[in-house]
Amino acid sequence: MKFNSLVIHGGIDGDKATGSVTVPIYQTSTYAQERVGEHKGYEYSRTGNPTREAAEKLIADLENGYAGFAFGSGMAAISSVLMMFKAGDHIIFSDDVYGGTFRVVDKVFKDFGIEYSFVDTSDIANISSHLRENTKAIYVETPTNPLMKLTDIQAVSKIAKDHDLLLIVDNTFMTPYLQRPIELGANIILHSATKYLGGHSDLVAGVVVVDSEALANKMHFIQNAVGAILGPFDSWLLVKGIKTLAVRMDRHCENAARVVEWLKQKSWVNKIYYPGLQADAVKSGQMENYGGMISFEVESEEVLEKVLRNLKTISLAESLGGIESLISVPAKMTHASVPKENRDKLGITDTLIRLSVGIEDVEDIIGDLDISRK
Ligand SMILES: *Cc1c(COP(=O)(O)O)cnc(C)c1O
Repeated sequence: MKFNSLVIHGGIDGDKATGSVTVPIYQTSTYAQERVGEHKGYEYSRTGNPTREAAEKLIADLENGYAGFAFGSGMAAISSVLMMFKAGDHIIFSDDVYGGTFRVVDKVFKDFGIEYSFVDTSDIANISSHLRENTKAIYVETPTNPLMKLTDIQAVSKIAKDHDLLLIVDNTFMTPYLQRPIELGANIILHSATKYLGGHSDLVAGVVVVDSEALANKMHFIQNAVGAILGPFDSWLLVKGIKTLAVRMDRHCENAARVVEWLKQKSWVNKIYYPGLQADAVKSGQMENYGGMISFEVESEEVLEKVLRNLKTISLAESLGGIESLISVPAKMTHASVPKENRDKLGITDTLIRLSVGIEDVEDIIGDLDISRK
């Protein structure tokens, strides 16, 4: 089945018991057994729930992986993956991963003895130079937030294979519609399904997809043991959201490209960060389009104030990936906890604006940004 069909019919397609074309919400915690240990595949909903399984099988199909797992948030998914490692293991991370990922590594897993290096993985040489005897994995986010730095997944996977390391990719920004890291050599894919997969800003969820039976067994053991599962109703919302992923992503990409073209002509825009503007060979190989995220730096705080004033279509809010356009100021919102000196060094200046381009009429989105009309 091709992708546009797979988002609708992949995983578990409908309900065999009733013929329902959608998988129902199995709002149950436990399942009656015929005899001790004799059951229909379900014992207790932390271990397995049919609605969660529908979401898990669907995302595994879309990422072309061996098995999928759904969690109560992106951070729960990331934490559960990090629990596959043990004290004394070393992991190399992209240096501008999602802030919550940095925080959980630096403030939680550090205390459990996980060693880590945050390096700029957009330059492959940085990975090789940080390898240690005890390195067990490389964790990459591409493109990054908010500066859209790209990492060549295939090149990193070669290093990972040469050194017998796991390659973990946070694919939240691209989604499997635009980028399928397992096909490029990754072993574990993570998503904040809160963003594009769910797609409607009505859900907090996370997913993991693994590429082998051994990793699936390990992940399932941790999911069941630790218990950070996604509930049945949220699993149903996630499946419902994913059904329109392909059409939504097309519109996100189309609108973002139009907004970038418009921003390019504005003298008050100093710099635009958008994967489609980067000359890297990477982008053509690993991404099928450039997604719906744009960051841009404006010439002054006055202009920034003006852009954010009188918004009609766009909401000033954190988060991203929903059907509605969201605008934020990373230095004051999502990245406020990063010291200013570090922010400036990274390029996250006080006049940097991040836009999650929604699927509204693009004229309305551009109208909101047009400071000449304010
Ligand atoms: C939002 C986000 C996360 C965290 O996911 P939650 O669902 O908010 O817990 C992880 N990675 C990326 C890239 C994100 O954007």
